[in-house]
Amino acid sequence: MNPDPQLHDLFTLLRFSSISTDPAHQPQMQACAAWVAEKMSCLGFSSTIHPTPGHPIVLARKKPSPGKKTVLIYGHYDVQPVDPLHLWTHPPFEPHLENGIITARGATDNKGQFLAHILGVQETLDSGTELPVNLIFLIEGEEEIGSPHLPAFLEQHREELACDVIVISDTGMIAPGLPTFTYGLRGIAALELFLTGPDKDLHSGIYGGAVANPITVLARLLGTLHDEQGRVRIPGFYSQVRELQSWEREAWKKLPLGDSDLLQLTGSPALAGEDGYSALERCYARPTAELNGISGGYQGEGTKTVLPSRASAKLTFRLVPDQDPDIILEQACQHLREHCPRTVHLEIKTGHSGKPYLVDPHNPYGQAAQRALARAFDHAEPALIREGGSIPIVATFKEVLGVDTLLLGLALPDCRAHSPNENFPVANFKAGIRLNQELLRELA
Ligand SMILES: [Zn+2]
Repeated sequence: MNPDPQLHDLFTLLRFSSISTDPAHQPQMQACAAWVAEKMSCLGFSSTIHPTPGHPIVLARKKPSPGKKTVLIYGHYDVQPVDPLHLWTHPPFEPHLENGIITARGATDNKGQFLAHILGVQETLDSGTELPVNLIFLIEGEEEIGSPHLPAFLEQHREELACDVIVISDTGMIAPGLPTFTYGLRGIAALELFLTGPDKDLHSGIYGGAVANPITVLARLLGTLHDEQGRVRIPGFYSQVRELQSWEREAWKKLPLGDSDLLQLTGSPALAGEDGYSALERCYARPTAELNGISGGYQGEGTKTVLPSRASAKLTFRLVPDQDPDIILEQACQHLREHCPRTVHLEIKTGHSGKPYLVDPHNPYGQAAQRALARAFDHAEPALIREGGSIPIVATFKEVLGVDTLLLGLALPDCRAHSPNENFPVANFKAGIRLNQELLRELA
């Protein structure tokens, strides 16, 4: 047993191989949910394991005291697969502690982070202090597979889950020791387009020059998506975009993550994108149209003189407040149809989508979060950032429960979440335990 009971708990939790995407790990998913529920019960919470058509959701709450605010803390006990296994320096489900760093699958994403909140509550209770707020813990097991059953669960338990604010620690810190409050996320909208020319692949010598080549048409069509200044040319695309506030631009200039750092992280020869914004501003707060895949014609070795029948491309838009994914998809489809010549057939399939998210970091909850972050991290001034990625569940919380989410992440830039050798510093784990206590006091 680890002499530090908090680390002992974390290591126990990390030993469950709770890989949600792989049916072979179903028993470990169940066992992990049961462990979380049991831990909450030991702290005097009434906890239930709710089965779903997928993996169970653990819900735990203290008997509410009237007059106190209610805070819901969300986390997920499922983890990503571990492949390629040979790149791990230690077995992924046998947590390894060296130089203050814990290496294990799920250490950062998300077991270390949500357990820090649970242990923060335990410290408060162990000190004989009453919890300053009413607390609900919602720990699900399907985050890594897109939370397919969480929205329905929220709808069904809307009243039971009524709260004033939600707290999630599942995002990143901009640098070690720099507490970070993420107040915005980009949304997403996906589509796939298929062009069909001739009804079969043709000999490019016999027919080349007579009919349109779908790959050429596709290349020209995709070329209409951006102008020379890197702006998206779809009419109406920017009409709902909330402009960056001047305080944001000033604050982000001071972050230890400038254009040259971003360039280095990408390994690209040069930065590129929409004129008039820094790379960070473009990632945090500007929408994009991004090609994710393109296919058509002969892909094998050597040459094949073919005039292909079909060509296709996969496209996603990253969206910012107040863009609406459904409207953007409609505008995109219309733009593509208008620019597609009649020499080919165009078929468009729309895919998944998620709304962007933004909360005012200067509202009372945001200020409370910043004070708590500063105290948990030796009075360092918190960085206020948006993230370029999407966490659709945050927008769902807002839609179904009508409340804002405070994203107070503890993951370091090199935590290797989803990769081999995922790791979490003990210092961040302990800071998370402090953060929970400061935060609940501040939110009261
Ligand atoms: Zn993850």
